[in-house]
Amino acid sequence: MTARPALLWFRDDLRLADNPALQAALDHGPLICLYILDSSAERRPIGAAARWWLSRSLTALSEAIAAKGGELLILRGGPAELLPALVELAGCRHVLWNRRYDGAAIALDKSLKATLAAAGASVESFNAGLLNEPWQVTTKAGGPFRMFTPYWRAARDCGEPAAPLPAPAALTRAALPPALREQALTVADLALEPTAPDWAGGLRATWSPGEDGARKRLAGFLDGALDGYRDGRDRPDRPSTSRLSPHLRFGEIGPRQIWHALQAALAAGRTPGSAGDVEKFLAELGWREFSYHLLFHNPDLAEDNLDRRFDAMPWLNDAAALAAWRAGRTGYPIVDAGMRELWQTGWMHNRVRMITASFLIKHLLSDWRAGEAWFWDTLVDADPASNPASWQWIAGCGADAAPYFRVFNPVIQGEKFDPDGAYVRRFVPELTGLDARVVHRPWEAPADALARAGIVLGRDYPRPIVALDAGRRRALDAFSTLRPE
Ligand SMILES: Cc1cc2nc3c(=O)[nH]c(=O)nc-3n(C[C@H](O)[C@H](O)[C@H](O)COP(=O)(O)OP(=O)(O)OC[C@H]3O[C@@H](n4cnc5c(N)ncnc54)[C@H](O)[C@@H]3O)c2cc1C
Repeated sequence: MTARPALLWFRDDLRLADNPALQAALDHGPLICLYILDSSAERRPIGAAARWWLSRSLTALSEAIAAKGGELLILRGGPAELLPALVELAGCRHVLWNRRYDGAAIALDKSLKATLAAAGASVESFNAGLLNEPWQVTTKAGGPFRMFTPYWRAARDCGEPAAPLPAPAALTRAALPPALREQALTVADLALEPTAPDWAGGLRATWSPGEDGARKRLAGFLDGALDGYRDGRDRPDRPSTSRLSPHLRFGEIGPRQIWHALQAALAAGRTPGSAGDVEKFLAELGWREFSYHLLFHNPDLAEDNLDRRFDAMPWLNDAAALAAWRAGRTGYPIVDAGMRELWQTGWMHNRVRMITASFLIKHLLSDWRAGEAWFWDTLVDADPASNPASWQWIAGCGADAAPYFRVFNPVIQGEKFDPDGAYVRRFVPELTGLDARVVHRPWEAPADALARAGIVLGRDYPRPIVALDAGRRRALDAFSTLRPE
């Protein structure tokens, strides 16, 4: 009698190393490796840039699985229907997956567990994506945290994360019943990449999605930008951060792997980074963990203000201003550089994410959800936890949020973190001819400097769409209408 296959359902864990569901599945006989492009109405569809990434990542995963002797079965549809049908058709006894933490995914997993158990299949789920499960880190009273610092202290007290698991040496492929083979799709069938127009040239030039790309990115970071990360991470004009975020988003690498690689490199003197740099970097991974903690305890994080007083916020929601912000044509060079970096590469430096988000919410008085939605569509790392948590944090309505009245001044921020204007010139080439004294405030440039640089304001580069003082005052007035806590 042939052994009944086990089903491994890949989701946000597109890797073979340190994949606990995969490791456990190896004990259950031949394997069906599955990915479902979820088109059910309950789930928020991933954005266009993330679709591009997913396409490349699935190709890499599919090749890696094939190289080990396995096969990645790709389907499209609603997992609530597809999975039980597949389990029955293939006669699977065991179903395994790594957990996801958004409300819709948790609801789906719960109902699938019940359906599959009733059909006689065992379901096992694992943690591949976080250092700690969101429910493991609690206050002394046993509740969730609202502040990052005590959260991270408690998370550190949970101890070292488990050592990462190796990738399996080989995979035993289960034979697919013909009815299932007929449904199998290729990555190309999913049509995840843009064609008309093909706007992904900048993404292709910037990124190498997949597990190998993630490993190389981490190795490059340990050898390079980790050195001085603690102080240098705020500089968008330099390669100052790891750029691991899209790899983490799709689970091509897990935080346990990063954690242990950092500690090992530090212990062996294999990185020029200091203990302080490593601690700061781990704390950034901590912010990611905290975002998942918030998402788990607030499933509507992308829709509802954590601070419900903000439900009454008199947002202006000016469509023309939002369009200028999206296009990187606000007249504020650091804002425009960030928005164009996002459009061209699918990524934006963290400091500039903060500046652009603050500008939209405060100076343009736009509901943070409009910005969150744009980032969701254009970021390759668009993340169901970090994106809404960060937007709420900037808006002042999130957990541990910067107070609403703290309004970033984009000129001061630009001059501080891009002092030579190199970042601005890279993404706003119209301003190439302006020197550092005026590149962040072109409207103050002397007429002869503008003429030498070949710039006519309002023609070659926009005049500011809002005056900073007036925008700030308008935001503070709007905020003052909310009832005090
Ligand atoms: C408005 C706004 C929206 C954001 N949206 C996202 C998003 O959709 N997806 C996303 O991964 N990050 C988001 N961030 C957080 C942060 O900007 C990115 O994680 C970071 O820029 C990624 O670059 P990196 O990998 O080089 O970071 P590094 O500095 O190298 O940090 C290492 C890792 O730590 C995590 N991390 C770092 N900073 C943060 C943070 N503030 N919050 C949560 N995790 C963090 C990321 O996983 C990152 O890859 C957002 C921040 C803001 C202000």
